Amino acid sequence: MVTLVIVENSTDAPKKETFHVITAAKLMESDIWAVVLGKDCHNICKAVSTISGVKKVIKIDAEFLKEKLSESYAFQISNLLKAYREIKSVLISTSSFGKELLPRIAAMHGMSQVSDVIKIHSPSIFDRPIYAGNLISKVKTSEKIKFLTIRTTKFDAAKKTEEVGINIENFTADTFSSLKSIINSSSVTSDKPDLLSARVVVAGGRGLGSAENYKKILEPLALKLNAALGASRAAVDSGFAPNEYQVGQTGKVVAPELYFAIGMSGSVQHLAGMKDSKIIVAINKDEDAPIFRIATYGLVADLFDVVPEITKKIR
Ligand SMILES: Cc1cc2nc3c(=O)[nH]c(=O)nc-3n(C[C@H](O)[C@H](O)[C@H](O)COP(=O)(O)OP(=O)(O)OC[C@H]3O[C@@H](n4cnc5c(N)ncnc54)[C@H](O)[C@@H]3O)c2cc1C
Repeated sequence: MVTLVIVENSTDAPKKETFHVITAAKLMESDIWAVVLGKDCHNICKAVSTISGVKKVIKIDAEFLKEKLSESYAFQISNLLKAYREIKSVLISTSSFGKELLPRIAAMHGMSQVSDVIKIHSPSIFDRPIYAGNLISKVKTSEKIKFLTIRTTKFDAAKKTEEVGINIENFTADTFSSLKSIINSSSVTSDKPDLLSARVVVAGGRGLGSAENYKKILEPLALKLNAALGASRAAVDSGFAPNEYQVGQTGKVVAPELYFAIGMSGSVQHLAGMKDSKIIVAINKDEDAPIFRIATYGLVADLFDVVPEITKKIR
């Protein structure tokens, strides 16, 4: 039996999400293969071949796979599953791409998937959060192939090994014509820590009042703590912070060692994205704000007074 991990990658390296998914794959009690799709992706395959636990890397390399279209990726992986009947589970992270890709492959095989797995009890029994993380549902699936998206904050990253020489096998891509094509893609590049992997996150909500305040109050604190910036959806919708800063049910799920929740009420939807943080510091002028129910430390104060003061005191 084989568990197939779909590798997510930047232009030249596997993304860290893949390392966490490989740790989850180790709990599926089978060999782990990883599949890399793209154009000129040999270096990524080589990097994946050095992750502990991976027994085989399959490369699907073609010009038309340069565009990360979920329709075309789903088609190739579906062909792979037909060629290798020993693949009994397929895993990818609960990223936007994972959420777009995996249900397509499962549907092509007439099967359902289990989404956002946080615990693997056995190769067919999993925990997953429901109702914005307020309940944990234990699910048993009898599908012939288990299709799982994995919540990466719940599994440690797999390590690199010194061993070399595992198999990188080519699998021929079948031409695929899609009605869809990518006209343009852009991403924000930043020298600040990445929100998903930062040890400290400084997040702000509607209480900050404006984009200028968000920058003026939070950035100096984040800089001193080498922290990533985060935001509530209200702050994002009000234009205080960019979309990719949003934490929560419809944003990113983070679990840093230290999370500052500044000027935010603590809605269930926001908690769904940060309540696993090890230490939560809440600053809110309303002592009844729900955020204080989950905060490790709570400060009832005006953020405009205390945040600059805290920043000044941190050496
Ligand atoms: C389907 C769905 C999905 C959603 N997904 C998300 C999500 O992913 N992430 C998310 O965050 N939200 C999400 N939301 C929105 C969520 O319900 C809340 O509306 C949002 O989280 C509120 O953001 P907030 O806490 O910044 O704002 P508010 O609830 O308005 O809270 C502002 C807080 O700031 C405090 N404050 C004001 N001034 C000061 C001051 N000077 N000093 C100190 N404190 C001050 C106030 O006391 C208040 O508690 C979702 C909602 C829905 C329906």
